[in-house]
Amino acid sequence: MAYQKGRRRPARTAEPTTINWEPKTKLGKLVRSGKIKTMSEALKSGLPIREPEIVDLLLPEINDEVIDVNMVQRMTDSGRRVKFVITVTVGNNDGFIGFGQAKGKEVGSSIRKAIENAKVNIIEIRRGCGSWECGCKKPHTVPFAINGKSGSVEITLKPAPQGIGLATGSVAKKILTLAGVKDCWAFTKGKTKTTVNYAKAVFNALEENAEMRILPDQIKKVGIVSGAIGIQKDESKEEMLQQEQALIKEEPDIQEVNKETNKVKEAKEK
Ligand SMILES: [Zn+2]
Repeated sequence: MAYQKGRRRPARTAEPTTINWEPKTKLGKLVRSGKIKTMSEALKSGLPIREPEIVDLLLPEINDEVIDVNMVQRMTDSGRRVKFVITVTVGNNDGFIGFGQAKGKEVGSSIRKAIENAKVNIIEIRRGCGSWECGCKKPHTVPFAINGKSGSVEITLKPAPQGIGLATGSVAKKILTLAGVKDCWAFTKGKTKTTVNYAKAVFNALEENAEMRILPDQIKKVGIVSGAIGIQKDESKEEMLQQEQALIKEEPDIQEVNKETNKVKEAKEK
């Protein structure tokens, strides 16, 4: 089976939902049968992603983050009705990001639904070194300034040099971290305290990043990479990796294992 459970970061759910998954859509079947092996291929196929399991299979390291839980109360003849509106983001910390919402009577099931919605809404973003102050050509920031809007909130995300980090509000930080952007400046207008609109504006800007047409010489100049680069230079992740390596000293080096799996993947792709 092409699917291997990532050992680096255990999934939040105890068991992956993909084991007994029987795909119903065309894209789902192509992914399940191994004809489509990467998230990039799945998105390029132009087929709609209707099953979250597609994302679970292709991006086993996907993480999620709840951005907002909003309780909506309504009085009816029979009493008080409470509903929750959940806003989440999902991402692999490496070039793929999704945004989703769901509404329901229970928080837990609504969160799960919102995560599913975010998964089927996943996009592939481009990173690069768009900062003229930096010029390292590594994909640590956004390759060019991008704008997003939702409600009264307008945001511009601008390339920042290495080491700046995410000079943004906390909501944008969550989304950009899951997208794999390390350094970025944000300039905002409007009611940024409206968490949901702020989050939507950030995702909207990343959609612009994903869809913008770029010229081949720009790709070279700024070192633009689309989607996953595979190498995480995240300090927290590196720390985690070191801890894990210390725990499994007897086993082969995890990076060697990864190299091997990558080689196999490459060979298969050819
Ligand atoms: Zn740079």
